[in-house]
Amino acid sequence: MEVIATAKEMQRRSDQLRQKGKSIAFVPTMGYLHEGHLTLMQAGKERGDALIISIFVNPTQFGPEEDYERYPRDMQRDLKLAQKVGVDIVFTPSAQEMYPDGFQTTVEVERVIQNLCGISRPGHFRGVATIVAKLFNIVKPHVALFGQKDYQQLITIKRMVKDLNMDIEVIGIPTVRERDGLAMSSRNAYLSPKKRKEAARLYRALRKGEELFRQGKRNTAAILTTIRGIIEEEKWATIDYVKICDAHTLEDIEEIKGEAIIAVAVQIGKTRLIDNIILKEV
Ligand code: AMP
Repeated sequence: MEVIATAKEMQRRSDQLRQKGKSIAFVPTMGYLHEGHLTLMQAGKERGDALIISIFVNPTQFGPEEDYERYPRDMQRDLKLAQKVGVDIVFTPSAQEMYPDGFQTTVEVERVIQNLCGISRPGHFRGVATIVAKLFNIVKPHVALFGQKDYQQLITIKRMVKDLNMDIEVIGIPTVRERDGLAMSSRNAYLSPKKRKEAARLYRALRKGEELFRQGKRNTAAILTTIRGIIEEEKWATIDYVKICDAHTLEDIEEIKGEAIIAVAVQIGKTRLIDNIILKEV
């Protein structure tokens, strides 16, 4: 497994792979890898001849009061895990490499970022779209894989790729969960054992919402009230949002028609957790 830290060298290696006729699959991450990341990588291995991942905690997608400094990092462990999955190249740039002096260009996706985390994390998706566009230009993948756990991120990237004619197939991978249903996340490491146990409530609440949908409820207000009730039973949890949105536009809806998503963001102590469930007529 190769580890590359500069954009120039990464571009050179990707050009080489492409010249040899190899297809490139790419999984961008912020490291502190868990089973969710590894599942994306396994899917990437099946999709491309060469699998490239990036490990970069991107400062521009964190707000000034957010957890950039304390975001968990463990490069040695990550490299071992990546090697085990069969990653071919790990791109690990520094912040200076990605944002050298004079940097001033950003990518702004306009509408799908206006709801959900776009409200509580202003500037977050500008940071995400910009870094992903840069990584795409450096890694030059044919296929890129993203988790449905960060559903708004997935939709934002898909929109950017379409609107800017990037010649990349973006694939969404279902959320990988702990045994009790908690969506895997590097941020789960922040939770004390007691709060970690309580965090499973988030998925239980989402499942209850899905159950109501399956029973034929289509009015979102009633479903949202039930979900909120379940989350609010936990004294540590502060709801940022619980919403039901159109799965493509991410606009709030009153009646569920077609594909929809129930999305939640909750603060448990100092830890912000997000999760979602997709509602589809079967
Ligand atoms: P992150 O390192 O948190 O930025 O995540 C890197 C990629 O892994 C993103 O595409 C995430 O959506 C995806 N991811 C994170 N957690 C999970 C999970 N539990 N299941 C599936 N994909 C995930």
